[in-house]
Amino acid sequence: MNVFMSLQQLDQLPRDFIKRKIMINLEQTKYKVIDEAVQLLEWKITPSEVECHIFWKDTYVTDEEYRRLLPYQRINHFPGSYMLGKKNELCRNLNRMRKMFPDDYDFFPRTWQLPYQSEEVRQKQGKAIFIVKPEANCQGRGIFLTKKLDPFLDKHYVVQEYLSNPYLIDGLKFDLRIYVLLKSIYPLKIFMYQEGLARFSTKKYVKPQKKNLGSVTMHLTNYAINKRSKDFVFNNDTNKDDVGHKRSLSSVLKYLQDQGHDINQLLNQIKKVIVKTIQSVQGDLTHLYRSQQHNTDGIEQCFELFGFDILLDSSLKPWLLEVNHTPSFSTDTPLDKIIKRNLIRDTLILLDVKNKPKKIYLDQKRAPVYQRPIKMSLEEKEKQQIKMSLYEDKHLNGYIKIYPDEIKDYYEQFMPPKPKERDSMINQQLEQFKNVERALKNQIEVKPSKSKNAKRLSTNQSFSDLDGQSLQQLTGRNTVIPQTRAVSQQRPFSSITTINRTISAVRKPVLSNQYQNLNISQNQKRLVYPSPVEFHPKPVYKMIPIKNFSFQKIENNQKNE
Ligand code: ADP
Repeated sequence: MNVFMSLQQLDQLPRDFIKRKIMINLEQTKYKVIDEAVQLLEWKITPSEVECHIFWKDTYVTDEEYRRLLPYQRINHFPGSYMLGKKNELCRNLNRMRKMFPDDYDFFPRTWQLPYQSEEVRQKQGKAIFIVKPEANCQGRGIFLTKKLDPFLDKHYVVQEYLSNPYLIDGLKFDLRIYVLLKSIYPLKIFMYQEGLARFSTKKYVKPQKKNLGSVTMHLTNYAINKRSKDFVFNNDTNKDDVGHKRSLSSVLKYLQDQGHDINQLLNQIKKVIVKTIQSVQGDLTHLYRSQQHNTDGIEQCFELFGFDILLDSSLKPWLLEVNHTPSFSTDTPLDKIIKRNLIRDTLILLDVKNKPKKIYLDQKRAPVYQRPIKMSLEEKEKQQIKMSLYEDKHLNGYIKIYPDEIKDYYEQFMPPKPKERDSMINQQLEQFKNVERALKNQIEVKPSKSKNAKRLSTNQSFSDLDGQSLQQLTGRNTVIPQTRAVSQQRPFSSITTINRTISAVRKPVLSNQYQNLNISQNQKRLVYPSPVEFHPKPVYKMIPIKNFSFQKIENNQKNE
């Protein structure tokens, strides 16, 4: 039995969805196939930024562009989606999750970020083959295999353990391109497209040895690299999607099924890889989305079509190689065309773009302020969500909903804490902090407890809560919190959200000193609110954990240890 739709079935799905009033701006995309999909829906292509309902842009979107978005408009990227799309960011996010959930996040080959993790990776040398990737390149550019990393340890690379046992078809290595629609970040809604691509290398695979490490057409499956090989066979007949070096995803699944493999199980594993990967950045993306979003009346203003690259090893375990937040929609072959055209069309249909919100917005703008309706109530929003879910279920076409699905409870453990939960935890923390503050004000010298295990006093707790472990409980499981002591040895804050959460959780003057010391990237620094420079240095108290326990005032300009 076929558990996956074939390419032909997918192409012939009845899609009655014509909405002539919808306008789309395609000025910032070079891909013709987007235009073609839009034509099939009979939407209007407009150059007007003000009138359009939806923007399609090939590259990421700037803060300024998000700010200019009108409340009824949508755009095909989330702010911060580079957290998945950039190799170094993905590595950081998935490594963080793996530390907390080693068994659940073992689908990403061991990966290190150079130069920051050079010590860790140095120790692995000699045992494995590494694949070294420039941080921000794509299409296999600048990638190489090596056993020795010494010459690169001080450079900006992402280093990954090379998976040397790939599943082979016709003796060739291949990877899968799976298209994933992130339709909403909060509540989380993820859809996987049933059709995708399988990209094959052109040279028969041999296990990596010193002399073949340079053979890119054997070790890399990128289309951009292999199409230049004389051995590359283009697929020119969509009725035969299982030939050549670029095939349809469904043809590979069918092949695997014919070999006796359990495709259902494989697909379930792939779905989990996708959902858990997105969950690793859900907290950050939600925070950024909400801070940029204009519309609080339930319109999902951002969506994103990701390309997940998955490699199957010889035991058919799916490994995530990377996530593309700006996947290519070029259509060199008829196969590309048919897959991508249907993909874009089904994506646009699933979004449920309507003219009504635009009309409401324009009417409201014209009306005097006192006549403008009040915001939607919570119940109204919930009703709208239910309506939206019903719409989605009816208009999946080539998509499968992979979150929420029947194993929603399993994913719960990887979710960032809900705003309410977080608030109450933060309040408790603030209460504790106030106690310490009172003690400080009264200049009470507190004596250590006599109990053997209580090395610290209870009033002291707030300070210790600045430490990784307790703040981690406070702000959620999947955040890495810097520690108060030995700040210089810590890695930067895991995210903007973490910084903001941390700031609200503890008193700003105390923290400001700490995080001025941190090596936050320019990009993150820019987004932090309030920015470190806005803090006026105030006296900071430091705990001296010695026998005669007392508080000591630190001078303003003195940095925390
Ligand atoms: P790019 O964005 O440049 O395509 P990828 O991370 O996708 O970079 O790597 C390019 C290709 O290298 C992949 O398509 C795959 O064939 C191969 N590759 C990447 N990482 C690994 C790995 N850890 N083990 C084996 N092969 C890999």
